[in-house]
Amino acid sequence: MDRYAVIGNPISHSRSPLIHRMFAEQTGEQLTYEALLAPLDDFAGTLRGFLDQGCGVNVTVPFKEQAWQLVDSRTAAAELAGAVNTVQRLEDGRLLGDNTDGKGLVRDIQHNAGFDLRGKRILLVGAGGAARGVIQPLLEAMPAQLCVVNRTVEKAEQLAMLFRDRGPISAAGFDWIEESVDLIINATSASLDGELPPLAPSLISTGHTWCYDMMYGSEATVFNRWAARQGAARCLDGLGMLVEQAAEAFLLWRGVRPDTAPVLAALR
Ligand code: NDP
Repeated sequence: MDRYAVIGNPISHSRSPLIHRMFAEQTGEQLTYEALLAPLDDFAGTLRGFLDQGCGVNVTVPFKEQAWQLVDSRTAAAELAGAVNTVQRLEDGRLLGDNTDGKGLVRDIQHNAGFDLRGKRILLVGAGGAARGVIQPLLEAMPAQLCVVNRTVEKAEQLAMLFRDRGPISAAGFDWIEESVDLIINATSASLDGELPPLAPSLISTGHTWCYDMMYGSEATVFNRWAARQGAARCLDGLGMLVEQAAEAFLLWRGVRPDTAPVLAALR
């Protein structure tokens, strides 16, 4: 049986095994998928140990940048993201790294939620690994403007510089921006601590602005509760992104893209 796994630390909360098992059942693919806890100081050993036998892995917090360094080759998406969330062992044993997070986000927003990104003004909040990973796919969707806003402004500016030849991207600090936008994407880890990035309420145009928090949980995130109070047209969480990035990984490994709708519905 072909073996796959997700590697992270912590990992017990991961929904990836459940998602991939549902994909396998739906598509009739014969595979196993497990969750592996890697020691913080030995991700490389865990990755190599599993891929001696295994066919592929997903990589999650905090190892995506290390995975980027360890693979033998990378897709264009992984190269630009600076992080790898999907590894495939090729027939010659070499490791190919991909990053499917950005594709997953864009597909969730455009395909699942039906929000066309073309011509829209987007605010991307945060400038960490998650933000970097989604910039290229967002720019490919042809927005009118993508502004990266971050607590540490220099990091937003570095990202805008990195992608400046790829589309209409700019950088800002929280107190520089007040004019309303069409979509706000929260790519900070603030929600994990129950905190809210210091966003001006005027960024949300009542009944018009959509809000997306990459975080998800059993309850609405702090960011989405704030957005709803400001009158956001819709508030989405990152569960759809999680399922869609998993489907892209499954496609890379198995050559078949599962139908994500029933899986997402089951998880909800
Ligand atoms: P990083 O640690 O790389 O970056 C964290 C970012 O959050 C930085 O920009 C940081 O700002 C900002 N930040 C943290 N706390 C606050 C705060 N209180 N106020 C304002 N800004 C804050 O994390 P990642 O980029 O890897 O992950 C970010 C989020 O994305 C996580 O919640 C993660 O779960 C989620 N995610 C979801 C996925 C999905 O499939 N749904 C996939 C990948 C990530 P500064 O630079 O100033 O420190």
